[in-house]
Amino acid sequence: MRTPVTIIGAGLGGLTLARVLHVHGIPATVYEAEPSPMARAQGGMLDIHDYNGQLALRAAGLMDEFRAIVLEGRQAMRVLDRDGTVLLDKADDGTGGRPEVQRGELRQILLDSLPTGTVRWDRKVSGTRALGEGRHEVTFADGSTVATSLLVGADGAWSRVRPLLSDATPEYAGRSFVETYLFDAETRHPAAAKAVGGGSMFAIEPGGNGKWIGAHRESGETLHTYLVLPMPLDWFAAIDFTDPAAATARIARELDGWAPELTALITDSDTAPVLRPHHTLPVGHRWDRVPGVTLVGDAAHLAAPNGEGANLAMQDGAELGTALASHPDDIEAALIAYEQAMFPRSAGEATEADRLHELMSGENAPHTLLAMLAADEPTS
Ligand SMILES: Cc1cc2nc3c(=O)[nH]c(=O)nc-3n(C[C@H](O)[C@H](O)[C@H](O)COP(=O)(O)OP(=O)(O)OC[C@H]3O[C@@H](n4cnc5c(N)ncnc54)[C@H](O)[C@@H]3O)c2cc1C
Repeated sequence: MRTPVTIIGAGLGGLTLARVLHVHGIPATVYEAEPSPMARAQGGMLDIHDYNGQLALRAAGLMDEFRAIVLEGRQAMRVLDRDGTVLLDKADDGTGGRPEVQRGELRQILLDSLPTGTVRWDRKVSGTRALGEGRHEVTFADGSTVATSLLVGADGAWSRVRPLLSDATPEYAGRSFVETYLFDAETRHPAAAKAVGGGSMFAIEPGGNGKWIGAHRESGETLHTYLVLPMPLDWFAAIDFTDPAAATARIARELDGWAPELTALITDSDTAPVLRPHHTLPVGHRWDRVPGVTLVGDAAHLAAPNGEGANLAMQDGAELGTALASHPDDIEAALIAYEQAMFPRSAGEATEADRLHELMSGENAPHTLLAMLAADEPTS
């Protein structure tokens, strides 16, 4: 295939696509809004699954690089009651299929694997329009434009490419994360470090009110925490997040009765609390084929966070790249093949994400979660 591919967004989905295209000798340009690779901290740890994210890395020819950044031991998992009672404590025995890596390091591997100049930084897309016959024009914030015969929106939740295909827009899911970090936890926050353990920890308020804490032990003894609060957006709007002490105090009031080593994950944070509202596209979001354009990752199927989104974005990117390489003279056949697999896959995962949310916040939580984890255990 000679048609160069225009990719909007240098997240994990767009970069995996660019890399797989490169492996197959297909040229691509990635336009990214952020001014540089270092413009923003890339968030925390991701577990990369052997049934999707790792398949993508294999297609990208980057398994050795991936193995080199895996954080050993981080697949350990604990489930706690809100009073600190340990309900499940599972060691990382090295046999799990979900090794953990830092998102920033994974992204860097992908960036390093692309020819210089593939990613054009500081190119924020402001709009897109159809030119006819499968061609599209992309307009950037500085007023410049490019025209392309193959446009891929990998630009996340608030995609500027999606309107070419669908009227759907993300809607608030009724809950948000409040994100905090504790650094050098073993020495500075030992009780919280012990509660989190060596990998990930979930602490769940029983009785179905939807509050829970997820925390990860990241590299450098950092504890990265997401507190889930099932509150409307205007409840959060009344909190002044520019005043970290006041915001923390208000958030902590929602944790009355929780064990101090768990509330410390919020109240002792070394960083200001960051609000991350959950937005989702409708489960089963899809579109009729429009020549010359498609979507990957969150742009296509934004779901509630359930540890699959980054993995799915990478799988989309790899499968689209492989489909384009397999149909060198027929872009539409490639896009049909890609979308026919992607639509049901992402609908299934979005349904699972909703189910997981129920397990974490239904009236029988956390026991429903424990039952699911027990059912996932290998029997031999
Ligand atoms: C708090 C939180 C925790 C999560 N934890 C996990 C987890 O543990 N495991 C997991 O698998 N998933 C997780 N996810 C989901 C995961 O982060 C996303 O599903 C994944 O990042 C989607 O990748 P993407 O490449 O599609 O989009 P993104 O990662 O959003 O990348 C999109 C890129 O496009 C760029 N962009 C956006 N708009 C424009 C524009 N107009 N012009 C040009 N560029 C643009 C952005 O700057 C960005 O670089 C989490 C999500 C959240 C919010």
